[in-house]
Amino acid sequence: MSKTAESVWNNCLAFIEDNITSQAYKTWFEPIKAVKLTDNALSIQVPSKFFYEWLEEHYVKILKVALTKELGQTAKLVYIIKMENTYGNKQPFTEKIPSSNRSNLQSQEVDVPLKNKSPELKNPFVIPGIRNVKIESQLNPNYNFESFLEGESNRLARSAGLAVANKPGGTSFNPLLIFGGVGLGKTHLGHAIGVDIKDKYPEKTVLYISAEKFTQQYIESVKKNNRNDFIHFYQIIDVLIVDDIQLLSGKAGTQDVFFHIFNHLHQNGKQVILTSDKAPVDMIDIEQRLLSRFKWGLSAELNHPDYDTRVAIIKNKLYRDGVEMPEDIVEFLANNIKTNIRELEGAIISLIAHSSFNKKEITIDLARKIVDNYVKHTKREVSIDYIQKVVSDYFQMDVDTLQSKTRKRHIVQARQLAMFFAKKFTKASLASIGSQIGQRDHATVLHACKTVDNLSTTDKQFRKYVEDLNKKLTL
Ligand code: ADP
Ligand code: MG
Repeated sequence: MSKTAESVWNNCLAFIEDNITSQAYKTWFEPIKAVKLTDNALSIQVPSKFFYEWLEEHYVKILKVALTKELGQTAKLVYIIKMENTYGNKQPFTEKIPSSNRSNLQSQEVDVPLKNKSPELKNPFVIPGIRNVKIESQLNPNYNFESFLEGESNRLARSAGLAVANKPGGTSFNPLLIFGGVGLGKTHLGHAIGVDIKDKYPEKTVLYISAEKFTQQYIESVKKNNRNDFIHFYQIIDVLIVDDIQLLSGKAGTQDVFFHIFNHLHQNGKQVILTSDKAPVDMIDIEQRLLSRFKWGLSAELNHPDYDTRVAIIKNKLYRDGVEMPEDIVEFLANNIKTNIRELEGAIISLIAHSSFNKKEITIDLARKIVDNYVKHTKREVSIDYIQKVVSDYFQMDVDTLQSKTRKRHIVQARQLAMFFAKKFTKASLASIGSQIGQRDHATVLHACKTVDNLSTTDKQFRKYVEDLNKKLTL
């Protein structure tokens, strides 16, 4: 049987999958498509230039081994960088980049959509000399890269952030979307990028704004009848950092105005940095056209810090505060507060405060008390298993029935309710909720959440189900 691009690539994948973590495999190899095979050169398509750079930096060895096994010593790898279409302009152009000197394995082709050369903006609100108006960046200088410790959990996001800071608007990660759970450093990293840019490019206008404040400003501008001034103000920013973008969910007007600002900035090579507490696929009630733009650049996740990173963060904080703490207490804290760096810092501050007010030494006992106070309250998260149990008990069925493939209405409804509450009460992603509730995909879960929302406003009986279950789950 003759070899095809696909068969060769599939064999490579099988080999690679066995040799790297499944998370890395999913992130970096699943999105790749094999496109063609000529002689000994396999062309693979990757979604962005960053992607290609990352593969080259971290996986070139394993790629080489895998490909040599398949195609022999003369094997070559060609990357085709294919970004999602932008601005509806479908004429692509191809740009060849001279072969990289990092490895001799590959050459690259870059296939990016042609952008409209944007015409000189004619905006009636352009006030001559407005560029000289100084815009305060709203950045917190303490949130910088130096104080943002690196670890496995934030490596991708941090290095993407550094790359953006080195060349704002000039990398393929535009927008850069940083997402992750509460207290994992999104705001800190967003500021750090801005602070670094201000440092390197003092002439650039950088603005940090929370999505909440952005929304308020927008509403205000509509009231005062100066929506255009509002838009114009944002369009002259060089680097726009919008924190907690998920808060735009359900706000159609603000999303619309942000869409226009985003397009303008992006089209003019300005950098946009966004943070969110969810991945784009898990964002609810955000317009599709915005979501698809969020995915143009790079989405980088901040994960829970591993043990070593937690210890490093604690020690760094103690050092900056000029406080000493016994090693066993540092370890105790690192072992007991795992999922939120803000809580970790809170516990340290409170520990120091207790010991100095009461003139007591910092002991393990005191640490335990404080950790209990900190963690117990937030550890109340109910599990998806528990939710399924409560919902099936309520409808007097067993969990297997709730998860089954049946389309019987009352079972479907129970399943949808379980999905709805899983979304409401846990931090799990839609995809992960789906896989735990009867192997469904994220779209099914999203649909379930919407259905429950709809039914509870239109159907009285159904609303009662929601209320009852809500009570049971929050008890
Ligand atoms: P989020 O915006 O994701 O909720 P923040 O950026 O507010 O989280 O971070 C919470 C706290 O944790 C901040 O005080 C921040 O300085 C600290 N922090 C987060 N990540 C790191 C890190 N990698 N190194 C040092 N401190 C960190
Ligand atoms: Mg934040």
